[in-house]
Amino acid sequence: MSNNILCIILTTMISVSAADICLPSIVPPAGLPVDSVPQFICFGFDDNGFANGLAWVDSLFLTKENPDGTPVRATFYMVSDPEKGDTALWNTVSTLQSRGYEIGNHTRHHTGNLSPTDLSSPKYWNGEICGCDTDMLKQYGT
Ligand SMILES: [Zn+2]
Repeated sequence: MSNNILCIILTTMISVSAADICLPSIVPPAGLPVDSVPQFICFGFDDNGFANGLAWVDSLFLTKENPDGTPVRATFYMVSDPEKGDTALWNTVSTLQSRGYEIGNHTRHHTGNLSPTDLSSPKYWNGEICGCDTDMLKQYGT
């Protein structure tokens, strides 16, 4: 996702008005009682190439709580790209994980315009996905 799209999504999150709030269904599936059906909202951010962007999201979520008192958190899908070696970025990722955010694998290089050969190559995708796992373990150790 480009930074422009991420900004649009985040701007939308901030400018929610009372009219935008979707109330819980009064007819949950399978006949479940309304007061027994939790709502789930998942926040996910992909690419995440800038430490200050991650810190900004953290500042938005850090004081937010769910109705049960648990913290509101998000998932950050990281591109590991070992050639970039951004220590500040990975230090921020480590901090976010220690605060309860989830860190996800978004491949090693996030390569666009793949050839048909790479798109259908298990070896290519194994390198991207397992390589990202390996890189993230090296960067912040979990
Ligand atoms: Zn992406």
